[in-house]
Amino acid sequence: MRRIAGLETEYGCLSQRTMETPPVPERVRDHLFYRERIGLMDVHDRDYDEPAGNGGFLFNGGRLYVDMGHIEYCTAECLRLRDLLASDQAGERLLQQGLIDLGIAGEASFIKNNIDHYTGATFGCHENYLLGRDAPLTQGNVDALLAFLAIRGLMVGAGRVGTVMVPRGIDRGARTRVLPFQVMQRADYIQTEIYEWVQFNRALINARDEPLGDPCRFRRFHLLLGDSNMLPFSQALKVGSTSLVLDLLEADRMPHVALADPVRAMHQVSHCPDGPWLIELSDGRRWTAVELLEHFLVAVSRLDLEEDPDSVWTRLAWEEVLRGLREDNDALLGKVDWITKRHLLDLFRTQEGVRWDDPWMESLDLEYHNLDETRRLAGLIPHPSLEELGLPGLGEEDLRLEAPRNTRAYARSQLMKRLAAGKFSYVIDWDYVQVGNSGYYALEDPFVSAVPPKAELPGLCEDLELRSK
Ligand code: ATP
Ligand code: MG
Ligand code: MG
Repeated sequence: MRRIAGLETEYGCLSQRTMETPPVPERVRDHLFYRERIGLMDVHDRDYDEPAGNGGFLFNGGRLYVDMGHIEYCTAECLRLRDLLASDQAGERLLQQGLIDLGIAGEASFIKNNIDHYTGATFGCHENYLLGRDAPLTQGNVDALLAFLAIRGLMVGAGRVGTVMVPRGIDRGARTRVLPFQVMQRADYIQTEIYEWVQFNRALINARDEPLGDPCRFRRFHLLLGDSNMLPFSQALKVGSTSLVLDLLEADRMPHVALADPVRAMHQVSHCPDGPWLIELSDGRRWTAVELLEHFLVAVSRLDLEEDPDSVWTRLAWEEVLRGLREDNDALLGKVDWITKRHLLDLFRTQEGVRWDDPWMESLDLEYHNLDETRRLAGLIPHPSLEELGLPGLGEEDLRLEAPRNTRAYARSQLMKRLAAGKFSYVIDWDYVQVGNSGYYALEDPFVSAVPPKAELPGLCEDLELRSK
């Protein structure tokens, strides 16, 4: 992967301490910032939704904040798959450590999933990919991108018990069928193809144009359709395959393929874990999702990439998963989340003689995602750890406190450490660090890890009201 990427994960919280204030996510956040000193809390309002004190940037290049009751951890901007996964795991370890330090790990857990089965609410795992501003977003390329995104979850979905059918207009019909198990956690919540908002009418492609970098050179491709992964193999394949498809887009070498209805295709694939995943193309032909994914893999393999180890790994993993989907799902146990989860839940279900719609199944579904390794169901099946995937990376000692050295996350971290040592007021964002009213550091190129020279504040920023630390 020669592309900057970052993940944002919102964590569910299972707690027996529901009457307590502040709630567990806020207690953990405050503990980590004020006692463990993992970062600098925001001292100004970021926007209307996020008052000062909601969270802040971390010395490891990431960000931690509470958003609508959820705790959200964002990884640093990373250049390699391994660093991205390691940065994400560092967040998991920080959150679990917070519960342990506060002595509440027995009564509260953080859950890395996307659904509250009880209320039907969903929370996300956003993926962010740096894209060249001049990437050719032609109709044909966008159609192909939508096709890939709609069915990608067959390879990397996290699976779930049950379904929530959200009607999409009268002609599409409001189905109320309750499924025992489906492939993707987020599929039922994706309702449209392209839209800019993240909480309503969620789309396959989020069109919000916030590059968090030089807008003349970059876009940040922001995806909210994916599931949070527990298995490192699934997570690496999710980001690796999407990054390769974005390579196709940037090279204007996308396959010529368009689906009749990408959102419906996503629902169809997700709702039929046993296949055959037949999808209608816009020209009336019907392909299986596996054939379509194969089509993308062939296109990716023809790209003239220098032999980048992340791309090589991803192509092999992609091939392996398609083979497993065609021939033997069990070969993918410990690698593909939804297959692994279904296997474990089904074992339990048959042993206990309960039905899929038993509430017990929903609780177990949650436990698959528990950050507490002693309770995490996903850990019951042997699976390759991040280290065992054989991906190259920086091998930083402790990504809980250290930022990856090869992206601007490192520069931001260095600046933050200076700020922490002095008594300056500050404003920190992904692409700049402002120090008091005296100047700012522009971090407009996510590939540059060196601290830039301090710049004069442009007039616009001088009005920013800064509070003291
Ligand atoms: P929301 O939570 O409302 O979706 P958001 O996506 O705009 O907000 P953050 O929650 O702050 O913003 O997360 C930004 C994410 O984007 C992080 O995961 C970060 O690593 C990643 N990121 C930052 N800059 C870039 C960039 N230029 N290209 C790709 N990813 C980036
Ligand atoms: Mg976010
Ligand atoms: Mg986001």
